Amino acid sequence: AYITELIGDGYKKDAEKLNDLAKFYDDDAVLGKIMDIKKQNKVVLKDYLKETQNIDIDENSIFDIQVKRLHEYKRQQMNALWVIHKYFDIKAGNLPKTPVTVIFGAKAAPAYTIAKDIIHLILCLQQLIDNDPEVSPYLKVVMIENYNVSKAAKIIPACDISEQISLASKEASGTGNMKFMLNGALTLGTRDGANVEIGELVGEDNIYFFGESSEAVIDHYAKADYVSKDYYEQPEIKKLVDFIVSDELLEIGQKESLERLHNELIVKDWFMTLLDVEDYIKTKEGVLVDYEDRKTWAKKALVNISKAGFFSSDRTIAEYNKDIWRL
Ligand SMILES: *Cc1c(COP(=O)(O)O)cnc(C)c1O
Repeated sequence: AYITELIGDGYKKDAEKLNDLAKFYDDDAVLGKIMDIKKQNKVVLKDYLKETQNIDIDENSIFDIQVKRLHEYKRQQMNALWVIHKYFDIKAGNLPKTPVTVIFGAKAAPAYTIAKDIIHLILCLQQLIDNDPEVSPYLKVVMIENYNVSKAAKIIPACDISEQISLASKEASGTGNMKFMLNGALTLGTRDGANVEIGELVGEDNIYFFGESSEAVIDHYAKADYVSKDYYEQPEIKKLVDFIVSDELLEIGQKESLERLHNELIVKDWFMTLLDVEDYIKTKEGVLVDYEDRKTWAKKALVNISKAGFFSSDRTIAEYNKDIWRL
């Protein structure tokens, strides 16, 4: 409704017209209103989670969201390692300026054992943090049950940070990344799939890229020279990975599941979590710092919204017809 108020409703049939929002990039009133709308959408999700799962989240915290199929290549496990990093950080007295709510939602094939182990780890972290009065004011982990389109419609508009952290070369395109962008979330991602096009559209200042390139990853597979253990041996990384089988987590969760995931990351890690985890943590910390400058953040969000028209299915189909089908 607010976009219509600003530029009329032509964008509903011609999504490229979202580009007309460019004239408001430096309009403080518009930027303020966009942040107000984001806040309202966060309250909608908060109320929905309270009603459906009896979970309380703080609409004034940063909503950091990863919703998509649960798969090792999409690397929810790397996000979980960031949670462990943040848990240690808060324990050490480095308190985030604004609390962070890390929201996961996913679906997985029932026979995908490691996927279930990753979900289990996330649920253990959720419980550990909820019951820790030192950490819970600053960090919350939420797993939204049974992710589906109806839930996506509530989750995506409420997002501040869109997690698109697949191993470069593995994601054909992704569509969640586009939905988040259109809803004014900033992408934290690898140069994979359509994240690359999003980066070209919004410019490097309006997206947060990290991690190895597709070329480098493909080269690792070709040479079979990625050895996760070498990364694990770095003390900072070892500390995070070993927390999966710490006394604290074993007290909450299932030994077999946590040990299997711990072992998988050390001896296999087919999707190279440990290759990118250090750069991921560094980049994500930068995102949290940038969040504090609300006006600059709002401008980045508006740039993202205004450039999202490129991902209209009308444009895609027209291009396919021109280049391939020639109907
Ligand atoms: C968009 C969407 C997906 C695909 O998300 P990706 O991040 O592109 O993998 C999966 N499930 C639902 C419910 C969606 O809305």
